[in-house]
Amino acid sequence: MAELEGLEFGKSDFVLLDEVNMEQFMENLKLRFEKARIYTFIGEVVVSVNPYKQMDIYGKEAIDAYRGRELYENPPHLYAVADAAYKAMKRRAKDTCIVISGESGAGKTEASKYIMQYIAAITNPSQRAEVESVKNVLLKSNCVLEAFGNAKTNRNDNSSRFGKYMDINFNFNGDPTGGHINNYLLEKVRILRGGSEEMLGSLHLQNDPVNYVYTREGATSNNDRSNHRAVLSALQVIGFSEEEIDSIYRILGTILILGNLQFETDSESVQVVGSEAVSHIAGLTTTEPDNVTKSLLYRTVATGGGEVIEKGHTEKEACFGRDAFAKALYERLFCWIVARINAVIEVKDYNPVLHGKNTVIGVLDIYGFEIFDNNSFEQFCINYCNEKLQQLFIELILRQEQDEYQREGITWQHIDYFNNQIIVDLVEQPHKGIISVLDEACLTVGKVTDTICLESMDAKLRQHPHYTSRKLTPSDKTMEFHRDFRIRHYAGDVTSNPVLKEMWPDGQLSITEVTKRPLTAATLFKNSIVALVDKLGCKEPYYVRCIKPNEMKSPVLFDDARCQHQVAYLGLLENVRVRRAGFAYRQPYARFLQRYKMTCEYTWPNHLMETDREAVEAIVTQHGFQDDVAYGHTKLFVRTPRSLFTLEQERAALI
Ligand code: ADP
Ligand code: MG
Repeated sequence: MAELEGLEFGKSDFVLLDEVNMEQFMENLKLRFEKARIYTFIGEVVVSVNPYKQMDIYGKEAIDAYRGRELYENPPHLYAVADAAYKAMKRRAKDTCIVISGESGAGKTEASKYIMQYIAAITNPSQRAEVESVKNVLLKSNCVLEAFGNAKTNRNDNSSRFGKYMDINFNFNGDPTGGHINNYLLEKVRILRGGSEEMLGSLHLQNDPVNYVYTREGATSNNDRSNHRAVLSALQVIGFSEEEIDSIYRILGTILILGNLQFETDSESVQVVGSEAVSHIAGLTTTEPDNVTKSLLYRTVATGGGEVIEKGHTEKEACFGRDAFAKALYERLFCWIVARINAVIEVKDYNPVLHGKNTVIGVLDIYGFEIFDNNSFEQFCINYCNEKLQQLFIELILRQEQDEYQREGITWQHIDYFNNQIIVDLVEQPHKGIISVLDEACLTVGKVTDTICLESMDAKLRQHPHYTSRKLTPSDKTMEFHRDFRIRHYAGDVTSNPVLKEMWPDGQLSITEVTKRPLTAATLFKNSIVALVDKLGCKEPYYVRCIKPNEMKSPVLFDDARCQHQVAYLGLLENVRVRRAGFAYRQPYARFLQRYKMTCEYTWPNHLMETDREAVEAIVTQHGFQDDVAYGHTKLFVRTPRSLFTLEQERAALI
C-alpha cells in the first residue's frame, strides 16, 4: 500500500502535497525518482518518470497485486490505471481510453506496451485458443509498427515517429476479440535518415547501410540480425504472406536506390546520372524506366488558363522531388502495413445479440508538446494535436465532474482554469484560422512564397491574442525564411517557419486535373485529429503523463530544469489543482460499506441503520474525516486519498 511505504519515498499522490506549487511538486517528483518510485498519482492520473533502467515491477506478482483492485489500494503503477480502465469497461460496459503523452524519450511507447501486456495477462483466464491468437497478433503488431515506424534519433534510440491509437475490442466476458490501429503523421525524414535497423537488416542489396544515402546516418548494432528475424517472424505470425513480405522488401529497396539517385544538368535539361538505378527502380516497382525518368524530371502544372502542362524540374527541384517520392513511398508502405494488420485484427462476425455489447479500450501513444529552436510544420501539427487533447481533457474531466456533482446534489466549487478553446480556434477555424490561411496559399495557382503567405496570415490574425509574427533581420535568418509566426500555446510560445512545400501531401505533388485540388497535409492532419478527438470524446479517459528525467538516458540524473519544463507543458500543476478542488475518489455507499465496515463498531458485522448512507456516515465520523468528504445521493465523495489510505491501513490490520 502506497502510504505504508512511508514518507521517505515521497508522496504517492501529488494531491497530498502540503501546498500545490511548482517547488513542492518538483521536490516530490525528484525524491520519488531517486528512490526508484517512478510512478506517482494525481488522483487517477499516473505521472511516470523514465527510469532508464530495468525495473523489477512488471512481473507476474505485480500483475496479481493490481488485478481487480481499487486504484488507491496499491502503490501508483501503470497497472493501476490499466486495471481501472479495464474494470470500468468490464463492470460498467463503458468504452474507455488511456491517453499516454509526453515528449520523445519520456517512456510512452514502453508504457503502452506494459499496459497491453497487463491487459493480455489478465484476460482469457480459460486460455481459449482464438482469444490467445487475437492477443498474440495485437502484441506482435507493436513489433512490426516499431520496425517500420521508429527511428534511432539522438533523443531516443527507438523513437516512434508516428502517433498511434489502438482500439482493443472486448466481448461481454471481457476478453479481447480484435482491434484497430490508427496512425498519425508518420515523420518520414527521420526514419529514413535514422535508418531503422531492421530495415537495413532486411535488405539483401548491399550489406552495409553506409552505401545508401538515406541510411548512412543511422547506426547499426549487433542486434540487427536478431531484430530482423523478430520482425520477420512477427510479420508471419500476423499473417503476411511470403509474397507480401517480398513486396515490402522490394519497396524498401526502391526507396534506398532512389535516395542514391543523382541529377546533372547538361546544356539545358536535367538528367538522371546513370541509367542502371532507373531500370532497377522500374523493375522493383514494375513500371517502365521511361515513366520513372519522367516522374523524376518533370512535373505537371496547371496554368492560369486552365490547361495542364509539363514543366521540367531544375536540378534542385528534382532532388526535392526524389526525396518527396521516396517519403511518399515509405508512407504508403507504412499505411499499407497498418491496413494489413487491421484487416487481420478486425473483429469479425460479432453479433451483439449473441455476444453482448462489444466494448473498447483505446490506447493512445502520442507525442506531447514539442518546442525546438527551429520548429517546422511538424511541430505545428503536433502542438495543435496537443491543444486538442488538452481541450478534451478539460472538457471531459471538468464537465464530467461538474455533471456528476450536479446529479449527486453536491455543491460544485468553481475553479479557474485556462480554457484553450481560443488557441484551438486560432488554428482550425474555417476561413480565418491558420490552417485555412495556409490551405488557401497552397491552393493558389502560381508562385506563393512563405512571405506572401505570412503576410496574409498577419492580415487575418494580427489581432489574435495568441498570435504574433516577426520580420527577421538578416542575422537571424535561417535558410530562406524572412519572417516567422508564433503561437502562444497553453504550454508556451512556439515559433514556426511555415514551409509551404511541406504542406503538400506527399505523393500528390502534381496537379493532374485543374479542378481536383488535393487536400493539404495540414487539412488532412486536422481531419484525422478531429476524428481522433471524437473517438476519444465518447470514452472514459485515463491518463499517463510521461516525463524524461534527462537528455543523457541516465538512470541517476534528474535534470531539474528539463523536468520542470515538462511538468509545466503537461499542465500537471493545473491537474493537481483540479483534483484538489474536487473530490478525487467516489464510491457507491454499498461498495464503500462492504469494504470498510469492519473498521467501525457500528457497522460490523452488520449495521442497524436505515440506509447504507447513514452507516457510511458512521464510519466516516468515527475516523474523524468528515471534513474530507461529501455525501451524494448514491455515492460518497472523498477529497484526498489520505482518508482512504487510513481506512485501507486499518482494514489491512484487521483482515
Ligand atoms: P517515447 O515513446 O516516449 O519516445 P520510449 O517508450 O520509446 O519513449 O522510451 C525510450 C527508452 O527509455 C526506452 O527504449 C527504454 O530504454 C527507456 N524506458 C522507457 N520506459 C521505461 C521503463 N518503464 N523501464 C525501463 N526503461 C524504460
Ligand atoms: Mg514512442
